[in-house]
Amino acid sequence: MNIHEYQARELFERFGVPTPKGNVAATPEEAEKAASRLNAKSLVVKAQIHAGGRGKGTFESGFQGGVHLCASPGEARDLAEKMLGQTLVTHQTGPEGKTVNKVMIAESVDIANELYLALLMDREQECPVIVASTEGGMDIERVAAETPDKIIRENIHPALGFQPYQARKLSKLLGFSPDKMRDFGKLLHALHRLFIDSDCSLVEINPLVVTTDDRLLALDAKFNFDDNALFRHPTIAELRDPSEEDPREVEASEFDLNYIGLEGNIGCMVNGAGLAMSTMDIIKHFGGDPANFLDVGGGATEEQVTNAFRILVGDPKVKAILVNIFGGIMKCDIIAQGIINAAKSLDINIPLIVRLEGTNVKKGRQLLDESGIALTTATDLSDAAQKAVASISA
Ligand code: GDP
Ligand code: MG
Repeated sequence: MNIHEYQARELFERFGVPTPKGNVAATPEEAEKAASRLNAKSLVVKAQIHAGGRGKGTFESGFQGGVHLCASPGEARDLAEKMLGQTLVTHQTGPEGKTVNKVMIAESVDIANELYLALLMDREQECPVIVASTEGGMDIERVAAETPDKIIRENIHPALGFQPYQARKLSKLLGFSPDKMRDFGKLLHALHRLFIDSDCSLVEINPLVVTTDDRLLALDAKFNFDDNALFRHPTIAELRDPSEEDPREVEASEFDLNYIGLEGNIGCMVNGAGLAMSTMDIIKHFGGDPANFLDVGGGATEEQVTNAFRILVGDPKVKAILVNIFGGIMKCDIIAQGIINAAKSLDINIPLIVRLEGTNVKKGRQLLDESGIALTTATDLSDAAQKAVASISA
């Protein structure tokens, strides 16, 4: 799960990670009031979406940039008016962009130096890792690709935790003066505590800045929480903003389905994550594009299958559906009944290709045959994928 920058700012404050003062607003009037309350000489208005690259983004109206400096509450109001309700496209949103429902007004600071700092899980080392760079404020993936020596990595021992010597080491590598070292060490300790206590999988500060009056501040924040640990953090779970998520995935999560939305046009219903991955690969191999990953699992109920099928049919991008079931624990007749239930209540006018094999396959096929639903049967996975791809180009 991701959260907005204004929510991240509050978490930073709670854990003692220094960050500029800021308020959130949903209307231009609120933005003006929020700006007045800050009582700051200069301000920054920032579009709140779950994506980075806002500074260099473009609004559908043609207005450039989702991060703007200004000098008065009146100007903050005008800027909020230009951003709120508009779609902002950045290199992270995809061409469809994201709608700005809120803006954050923060106290603006004068920047002397921009750095990059992140704390995330290192899956190879099986422990957290700090990633830092003197090249902050820009696309870190590009820094890593073009000048990998400018990326510093420091693993944190899962049992020992973050150690003071590591703060000194990183501080030196980033070129901080000895008196900045203390501030940086405190910030790292606070960040590490926040990361562990909140079950984060990523906290990224880009940029971490040194101001002209020599303060160290987190100016931007991106958080990612481990979904499987959210039950331990009801206050964090409340920060979820479904309007930022793929509506297909929001619906799928209501039915506990392992569903991930993709860009293609062949809807997939498969049992088992491995088989679902290979189904997507084979669709690609035959020149098609999957619209989703969906693993209906071994223990799915008829109701879940019905809902899964409904999500696939309801996706306007989906031009054909491929059902690929190898019945092991999952029984073919459950899948068949789910398809029939969904088909009864829905108007399916796209090709449906079904490959059933395994437990209760005869019963499943019989149910489908007797239902009178128009479908194409396939003998194996290659056959199914080829038929699905052909049904779209036909
Ligand atoms: P992003 O583009 O989505 O990553 O948004 P950021 O919050 O990182 O803002 C983009 C850039 O705007 C930063 O890298 C800074 O250079 C600049 N910026 C953001 N806040 C301030 C501020 O308070 N003062 C100044 N001078 N620049 C800022
Ligand atoms: Mg940034």
